[in-house]
Amino acid sequence: TTQAAKRHLTLLGATGSIGLSTLDVVRRHSDRFSVYALTASTKVDDMAALCREFRPAVAVMADAAAAEQLERALADLSGTRVLAGEAGLVEVSEATEPDTVVAAIVGAAGLAPTLAAVKAGKRVLLANKEALVMSGQLFMDAVVQSGALLLPIDSEHNAIFQCLPAERVRDLPGAGVRRILLTASGGPFRNHTPDMLREVTPAQACKHPNWSMGQKISVDSATLMNKGLELIEACWLFNTRPDQIEVHVHPESIIHSMVEYVDGSVLAQLGSPDMRTPIANGLAWPERVDAGVAPLDLFALGRFHFERPDVERFPCLRLAAEAFEAGGTAPAVLNAANEEAVAAFLSGELCFADIPVIIEHTLARVPTRAADDFGAIMAADQSGRVEACAEIERRTRRTLAP
Ligand code: NAD
Ligand code: MG
Repeated sequence: TTQAAKRHLTLLGATGSIGLSTLDVVRRHSDRFSVYALTASTKVDDMAALCREFRPAVAVMADAAAAEQLERALADLSGTRVLAGEAGLVEVSEATEPDTVVAAIVGAAGLAPTLAAVKAGKRVLLANKEALVMSGQLFMDAVVQSGALLLPIDSEHNAIFQCLPAERVRDLPGAGVRRILLTASGGPFRNHTPDMLREVTPAQACKHPNWSMGQKISVDSATLMNKGLELIEACWLFNTRPDQIEVHVHPESIIHSMVEYVDGSVLAQLGSPDMRTPIANGLAWPERVDAGVAPLDLFALGRFHFERPDVERFPCLRLAAEAFEAGGTAPAVLNAANEEAVAAFLSGELCFADIPVIIEHTLARVPTRAADDFGAIMAADQSGRVEACAEIERRTRRTLAP
């Protein structure tokens, strides 16, 4: 047997749910994977502990004060250089030392470093779907230009990727694909009535039935915006359109998605709901490594269920499809409004049922422009946030009024 090439990683978002799952796979295979850089935002203690274990050459804190604290906490660790801010995130993403970048920052904050990794031609493991949603065409053009290897680790997209022939991932007609069947768990409020949806709390929204994830994506799963973002993500990754993708609510979250071919074959990827499986797939691809995931017990599961998504109760899925069809900066505006609405819900300012209302309002108010450069996308992101925040504030004042 031949020795597998050793991969050297930059892990963006090391302290998060995906970051820690990635490090768990890395820890099991220190002969194959080593860490060049770890990044985080504010969690200094967690980051210091990770640096002591994985000994990265560079550690980046997006927050400047947190970077100073980390510097002090690691004063005795001479091998790790501490950097700060977005410049630091970009530096470790495009540096020559790492061959692989895991993009696991949440939200728009991950766009600049993820694009930097793509432009530097890295193997990019993409969890940060918001970056691709915001910058779709620009992002995919950069992949083609640089020769970067883009590997999806969002579980659904990794499943679709595994069900496609490797050389036809962006040529579905050529591969004989009829449709993509994108599965969704339906989230914790799948059976809630509209009245019940007005009353749900952040704690209830963050308690996903099958997956343990960061707060933002947990709320996105509950509104179905996660599936909306994933619909757009799939269109860019697999060079297709929303009408070629059918969303299936599958509450067990065992089938992670499927590909239907013109001969009637439907290929599915199954597994326990554990992100270490798609992460290990991306890290080792085209080889396979043990991810530490227990074997699937189909006898214990017994049966699978499928339902159509209800876009009346969960309008975010429709809003995302409309934003993709509108094109240009519309998906960046959708994403920005969603990030602000989710943050307002988590802080108790906005009711859950008003998340889609804020997004629809924002999309109607912010004009769609061409998204052909980074500046245009960041300007749309900014306009979306300003418009969404103004509407959130208007609603808060109205509710507080006697
Ligand atoms: P998380 O909240 O657990 O972690 C987010 C990470 O990003 C942390 O390390 C944090 O330090 C960093 N971060 C946050 N704000 C930042 C900023 N402004 N600048 C720099 N870094 C910042 O989130 P998560 O659940 O790990 O999700 C990460 C990404 O992966 C998201 O885009 C999410 O949609 C995607 N994803 C997550 C899962 C999952 O199971 N958790 C599954 C599929 C896709
Ligand atoms: Mg997913």
